[in-house]
Amino acid sequence: MIHNFDAIVLGAGAAGLMCAVEAGKRGRRVAVLERAERAGKKILISGGGRCNFTNIYCQPEHFISHNPHFAKSALARYTPSDFIALVEKHRIPYHEKTLGQLFCDRSAQEILSMLECECRAAGVQLFLNTAIDEVRRDTRFVVRAGKTEFHAPAVVVATGGLSIPKMGATGFGYELARQFGLAIHRTRPALVPLVLGDEDRERYCDLAGVAADVVACFGKQGFREKMLITHRGLSGPAILQISSYWNKPQPILIDLAPERNVTAVLRNSNSSRHLSAAKAAFRAVLPNRLADRWLELHTPANWTNAALEALELQAHQWAITPADTEGYDKAEVTAGGVDTDELSAKTLESREVRGLFFIGEVVDVTGHLGGFNFQWAWASGACAGSAL
Ligand SMILES: Cc1cc2nc3c(=O)[nH]c(=O)nc-3n(C[C@H](O)[C@H](O)[C@H](O)COP(=O)(O)OP(=O)(O)OC[C@H]3O[C@@H](n4cnc5c(N)ncnc54)[C@H](O)[C@@H]3O)c2cc1C
Repeated sequence: MIHNFDAIVLGAGAAGLMCAVEAGKRGRRVAVLERAERAGKKILISGGGRCNFTNIYCQPEHFISHNPHFAKSALARYTPSDFIALVEKHRIPYHEKTLGQLFCDRSAQEILSMLECECRAAGVQLFLNTAIDEVRRDTRFVVRAGKTEFHAPAVVVATGGLSIPKMGATGFGYELARQFGLAIHRTRPALVPLVLGDEDRERYCDLAGVAADVVACFGKQGFREKMLITHRGLSGPAILQISSYWNKPQPILIDLAPERNVTAVLRNSNSSRHLSAAKAAFRAVLPNRLADRWLELHTPANWTNAALEALELQAHQWAITPADTEGYDKAEVTAGGVDTDELSAKTLESREVRGLFFIGEVVDVTGHLGGFNFQWAWASGACAGSAL
């Protein structure tokens, strides 16, 4: 059986649904083909089930790409305010949790229902349980799924990245890019917990569950947020953020006491230069168990000013070398992907293969934690949709 459309969108995730809505609203006949039995599975699990759907402070600096300028155009053309207007039109209650991060008050399901409702209103046809066997191009694109063929002059690849394979993530979008001769930047897990080597695990991981407010740094990047010790290593927002920049086997630097002078109280007194005073000073800044462990592992040889200064410095520059990341199984996103030099920044269309578009996570644009990845999905989807 052959279906004719104006555009075929591959993948009914955040980017694909947004793209289909925009194109459908402009009168295009759009098909969205989705392998899974339902659309938007990642939307449903996002933000702990409440979907951190955007960030009101979204700026191009919140994105990682080999070309840091690429995302600017799409992000300026479809802004957080545009998405918020849609959320408000559907009367979905939301709140700012922290740092500009907007979450649903009730459930991520409401964001998915909103997109599905917009798709229906725009006449978009959604084909679920549709695994794609082949995409080829003669005078138009032909997408084959079993015995069914979809024909259209445009195909939008919105099949996402490699994170969370048990939810069906595959390298399909990258394979398709390669098939059509587009370059790919090496992919890697991002926004992912870090695993410590055996020795460090022995030192710290029995403290699993302990969290502290830190600054985690790699190169010029630093994030001041919570760090969480896990059974296998480190996690929490500060660590997830820095994981997107980390290069194995280099160390990350952690400031355990940002903007605090922990040992000043010891240095300013001659009577409190001993271990229990040091413990009290560290306990004032860090959770007790972490403070005690830190001092066990970094007990100064003596209590001179020089030794106390060294102790202070160690706490602000804890250089720890992760053995690895937790990998795609636990990564919120995939960094790297389709080289942005291959695409128009305005429309996300391939420069060489006319009618072929790439949007969302499959592109080499990766947001920081905090609603930026969805904002990229909405923005890139909307820009492609308005070019179809
Ligand atoms: C646990 C978790 C929580 C997250 N929370 C947030 C958050 O709160 N805020 C935020 O901004 N970001 C969050 N993210 C990241 C965000 O979910 C992604 O950046 C976003 O979903 C990417 O959108 P996408 O449309 O490009 O890809 P996806 O949403 O992954 O959609 C891709 C779609 O393509 C389909 N597909 C794949 N291959 C094929 C194929 N061969 N044929 C047909 N269909 C195919 C998939 O089934 C899927 O439905 C989270 C991610 C995870 C894993």
